[in-house]
Amino acid sequence: MVGASCGTVAANVIDTHCHLTGDRYKGGLGAILTTAREAGLSAMIAVAVDVEDAYAAQSLSEAEPDVWCTAGVHPSEAGRDHNLEQLEQLISHPRCLAWGEMGLDGHWPDPTLPAQRALFEAQLAVVKQVDGLGGALKPIILHSRRAVEEVLETLKRVGICGSRCVFHCFTEGPELIHPVLAFGAHVSFTGVVTYRNAADVAAASDEVPLDRLMVETDSPYLTPEPHRGTWPNEPANVVHVSHYLAARRGMSNADFEAATDATAQSFFGVP
Ligand SMILES: [Zn+2]
Repeated sequence: MVGASCGTVAANVIDTHCHLTGDRYKGGLGAILTTAREAGLSAMIAVAVDVEDAYAAQSLSEAEPDVWCTAGVHPSEAGRDHNLEQLEQLISHPRCLAWGEMGLDGHWPDPTLPAQRALFEAQLAVVKQVDGLGGALKPIILHSRRAVEEVLETLKRVGICGSRCVFHCFTEGPELIHPVLAFGAHVSFTGVVTYRNAADVAAASDEVPLDRLMVETDSPYLTPEPHRGTWPNEPANVVHVSHYLAARRGMSNADFEAATDATAQSFFGVP
């Protein structure tokens, strides 16, 4: 809070979606977390891409007070066996804020869409099963690359409420943001929104009200401008996504960050 009162370091910035586990940070995660804290981040959500990764994220969240975890299997992991029953155990952990990431990716031909659909729907069945046990309904982080309409259709068919969903790394134009917002979902943007060749994504971001808008890095991928092309991306860079979107809206960085962090805190239940 000292930094905030001096006006030098933004307090309470949240990277709502990063991948910190496994061997992604070969130089060591300690320095990455220190840099993030020095940049003013108060929380990072370490998003799982499969069951094993979810246990790794859970362990990290137990060791680091500002790291939280999720439970889900990424569509790129479709086509092989996953013990999805373990998601029920993972989601009940007090440090686990959300399901996901899960969904569909229409960009790559492999794994096939039928395999991705089967994995997505099997996970939604686990979500519904856990919902039926009572207790708070945890949010769902959705991957929907080139598949926004089908992801929406699937969620509606299964009976998932839009207000508990976030369409993460939104990379479509304004025409596809409208059905997502009409569904009641939240939307989060990565460094892609800062890229010169992604003007339609930036235009889509303009449509999202602040109480439905969040920022993320999707680290180690998608490094934002002005560091585009640098590998790996890291949570500290979420401030560049934030500053870009603040400037587009004619808002101060502090006001924009306060608004989107309030959205993230209430959506994910970050204390
Ligand atoms: Zn991700």
